[in-house]
Amino acid sequence: MKNRRGIERLVKEAFSLGRPVLVEPEAKEVLRLSSIQVPRFKVVKDVAGAIEAAESIGYPIVLKIISPDIVHKSEVGGVAVGLNSAKEIEEHWSQMILGVAMESPLAMIEGFIVEEMVGKGVEVIIGAIKDEQFGPVVMFGTGGVAVELMKDVSFRLAPVTREEAFEMMSEVKGFPLLTGFRGSHSKDLEAVADAIVKLAKTIDEIDGLKELEINPLIVYDKGVVAVDARATLG
Ligand code: ADP
Ligand code: MG
Repeated sequence: MKNRRGIERLVKEAFSLGRPVLVEPEAKEVLRLSSIQVPRFKVVKDVAGAIEAAESIGYPIVLKIISPDIVHKSEVGGVAVGLNSAKEIEEHWSQMILGVAMESPLAMIEGFIVEEMVGKGVEVIIGAIKDEQFGPVVMFGTGGVAVELMKDVSFRLAPVTREEAFEMMSEVKGFPLLTGFRGSHSKDLEAVADAIVKLAKTIDEIDGLKELEINPLIVYDKGVVAVDARATLG
């Protein structure tokens, strides 16, 4: 893996600071170094910084809270999508701080992400973990509710070949969402397989990386992009 050193450095740095997790911007850096596409984003500390970042990225943008203590940002009001102006950023900024303070009062807030708003597609999840019993494992599932409610996922020991990645995709009940459903186009299966292979390789090769999850990976007719990521160390 060509960026192995860079990823190891990032993990080691976080670890030496006593951090048990990589927050979204750090986990996305691991993905980027693993050659998995992520949206353009900037980390900011205040409203002025957010507006400046939005202007350089271009509206509409997504605003997200950064906290090692928050696993599901949107559940505590920590994600605002489709913001179109400085005024909207100002409004959502204060709402977000209030909301998070109410819902998750002990969470340490490290800053905010201002991110390019990417187009709609099919949302899938790819997770990778070093399992105590099985060792490095990679998981695939179709988006959100299907995973959380129906446990519609498939697993393989990592690393995996492209063929295994395709098998993993075809094993979940939600597979038709990707191959074309009610007249929709087939999505970019090759790009999904590629992301599965890469994530599996990263969990297998990087010491100190315990879990790395993309939730969701948005899949298009052409290409994929990881809009959320999180990692645990240990
Ligand atoms: P959570 O911590 O709640 O999982 P996410 O970062 O996954 O937060 O954001 C919640 C949802 O918002 C995502 O599942 C996705 O549908 C949407 N979303 C997040 N980031 C973007 C983005 N950059 N562009 C478009 N949609 C996004
Ligand atoms: Mg998410």
